[in-house]
Amino acid sequence: MPAVYTPTMDRATVTATFSRRMRVRLPDGAEVDARIKGKRLKPVCGDTVTIEPLPDEHDWLITGVDERRNELTRPNASGRIEVLAANVDYVCVVAAAAPKPDWFIVDRYLCAAELMSIGAAVVFNKVDLDGGPAAGELEVYRRIGYDVVPCSAVSGAGIDELATLLEGRRSIIVGQSGVGKSTIINRLIGAEIQPTAAISHKTREGRHTTVSSTMIPLPAGGEIIDSPGVRDYAPALQSAAIASQGFREIRRAAQECRFTNCWHLREPGCAVKEGAETGEISPRRYESYKRIVNLTRKLADGRY
Ligand code: GDP
Ligand code: ZN
Repeated sequence: MPAVYTPTMDRATVTATFSRRMRVRLPDGAEVDARIKGKRLKPVCGDTVTIEPLPDEHDWLITGVDERRNELTRPNASGRIEVLAANVDYVCVVAAAAPKPDWFIVDRYLCAAELMSIGAAVVFNKVDLDGGPAAGELEVYRRIGYDVVPCSAVSGAGIDELATLLEGRRSIIVGQSGVGKSTIINRLIGAEIQPTAAISHKTREGRHTTVSSTMIPLPAGGEIIDSPGVRDYAPALQSAAIASQGFREIRRAAQECRFTNCWHLREPGCAVKEGAETGEISPRRYESYKRIVNLTRKLADGRY
């Protein structure tokens, strides 16, 4: 008996999402609109999915989601874990000369990247403006081992360097609203992206709404995920103890800590605490670590 062959079933990559509406890229590169079979499946940008065309319909149907290599997650307002993107290689955290950098947000994203075991860059945009080049802070990240790119999406300074870092990878671009993420993407692709166009105008909902997440191909290969709806971010940690794994320099210093099960907070003689006192660990980064530990504890108590 010949093997069952379903020529219509296919594999695809999710390239844009708005709620339960999806845009997916087929193996031949064509993009189609899709909806999701049932209520259980929750595909996100970056997912590999199984998909089939629907007879007499514009939409395709997503019938399965592959196991993920990693996912960027956060707790939503009700404390439930929400996945922002899947199968990501690199996190591009943007801060800028204006609005005033919130380094705690930067640290939270870096912590998430660390826990996904992927690399990350700190991109400092709008260097064409006065308002402090943040050289000291950037040096802290360089010393820890992060890629650091001062740039200007307006003048173009540093954009080539950023493009090289992003080449051939699937990255996600994150950071405070207004730091210039959209402008940087436009500069990288040399065109204006139209987020709402990612979901076809042929779908009823698409016209009135913006996408919650979209993946844009880069000219030199690779792609970048933009989630314009994400205003604030806290990594979803299973326990506060995991927070120390999210800070490279704290993880390193923790190996020298003579206490097992040390929170590295107030324990006298803790190697991490001492590192922050001598300046070997940036006191500001240490502060971020402590805030994340406390945030996670609150979350665990339902006080978030
Ligand atoms: P997003 O919210 O992070 O996507 O930020 P946008 O890309 O929408 O940019 C916010 C504002 O900053 C816009 O008015 C941009 O024109 C401006 N902007 C972006 N990049 C630069 C830059 O490198 N220099 C200056 N001076 N302004 C920029
Ligand atoms: Zn300790």
